[in-house]
Amino acid sequence: EQVVVAIDGPSGSGKSSVSRAVATRLEVGYLDTGAMYRALTWWCLERGLDLSDQDAVAVASRELPLVMSHDPQAPAITVDGTAVDLAIRETRISEAVSAVATNLAVRADMKQRQRVLIGEIASATGGVVAEGRDITTVVAPDADVRILLTASEAARLARRSKELHGSDDDSSLERTREQVVARDAKDSTVSQFSVAADGVVTVDTSDLDFEQSVQAVLDVVRA
Ligand code: C5P
Repeated sequence: EQVVVAIDGPSGSGKSSVSRAVATRLEVGYLDTGAMYRALTWWCLERGLDLSDQDAVAVASRELPLVMSHDPQAPAITVDGTAVDLAIRETRISEAVSAVATNLAVRADMKQRQRVLIGEIASATGGVVAEGRDITTVVAPDADVRILLTASEAARLARRSKELHGSDDDSSLERTREQVVARDAKDSTVSQFSVAADGVVTVDTSDLDFEQSVQAVLDVVRA
């Protein structure tokens, strides 16, 4: 029997690492939908597109030659044969991605792609853990398990600071705050990811370490 697990949450909630670990323990595939928006952003910039040109970006989305590995232990993503795993995590992409993600034609295209991928991965591996901002609500509202991973702003900032700057001292926190708060504000115009939709279980990871967060999600999956 296939299990489709949808996980949404803001950056710093631990969403990606927790989702990968959950997929690994369930022995199913993994889909990082944020990576898809990041890959599209990378490709548009690579080709010199003006991100405010809605039509050009929408066409790029439909044509995006994207290939992803769905192994939670070795997520890999290529665009037109180029590995972009590291490039899509660069600050310039994090700063530009919201401009692409607020394009409604892009969101419609991504929704279709993601639905197809979820079906393919689930058939191939017996299930899927798909994570993003609108998976529980728009992409897979009929998923078997739907979870919103949240964390207090302080906890999210501390985690992102360690990821981005290797530290959560005051100056790193301050640099991180600007990046995280700015992206959250831009993202909140496309998805209201801080409030759980009907039927979505909230898992607050503020006071949980990584392993406890994974267990909390697995508890919901097995309930
Ligand atoms: O999860 P991650 O931080 O990699 O997502 C990058 C960006 O992609 C988000 O800031 C958001 O703009 C967009 N996104 C989205 N819908 C999703 C996943 C990501 O709009 N399902």
